[in-house]
Amino acid sequence: MSHLAIVASEPGTIIVVEDDPHIADLIELYLRRDGHRVVQAPTGEAGLEAAARERPRLVILDIGLPGQLDGLEVCRRLRSTSNVPILMLTARDDEIDRVLGLELGADDYVTKPFSPRELAARVKAILRRADGPPPARPAVLTAGKVEVDTGRREARIGSRPVSLATREFDLLQFLAENAGLVLSRQQLLDGVWGQGWYGDERTVDVHVRQLRKKLGEALSLTTVWGVGYRLE
Ligand code: CA
Repeated sequence: MSHLAIVASEPGTIIVVEDDPHIADLIELYLRRDGHRVVQAPTGEAGLEAAARERPRLVILDIGLPGQLDGLEVCRRLRSTSNVPILMLTARDDEIDRVLGLELGADDYVTKPFSPRELAARVKAILRRADGPPPARPAVLTAGKVEVDTGRREARIGSRPVSLATREFDLLQFLAENAGLVLSRQQLLDGVWGQGWYGDERTVDVHVRQLRKKLGEALSLTTVWGVGYRLE
């Protein structure tokens, strides 16, 4: 089992929070093919309850939900209590920045309409990342005026910690480990999000924007036009 886990993630329970039963059933069909157990929740409230009860490996969360809680609010609440991977279903392009940013911190998104095959592939990639090897030995890297403490997973300017989302920290660490090198968006996707990542390169830009916003002048990150980014 432990050997297999390196090659393919163990299946587990996945919660699908989606009010459209046709979409939810279709997702369930594909996930079950991969061996997952699927629990459907038609409202945000039901989704939160199921997440607390089932201890899922992953939550698939539609943004447009009936009732008091939309998917964004459900995501925010889930994130405040757990690190469970979250894949959002969005209907609109302009929601993507919020969904992936610190505010919500979802792991990935799929824009409707989507192919269930693609969604299943994304699920696999997220679970593979979640099962990834532990980070290398703790070390504190410095990148300009930013300290990147890989043991505590903390970024600091001077002695002041700066709050970063999980993926933002991963990106900062990867940049710091490769300081001085120009990294393409694809290299960053492979290095930070993993080889199985199916997302587009815009994901990198969204996270870079967040890093710049939070770390400001202390982050000496250069955009190399047409190529990618370089941390000095
Ligand atoms: Ca919906």
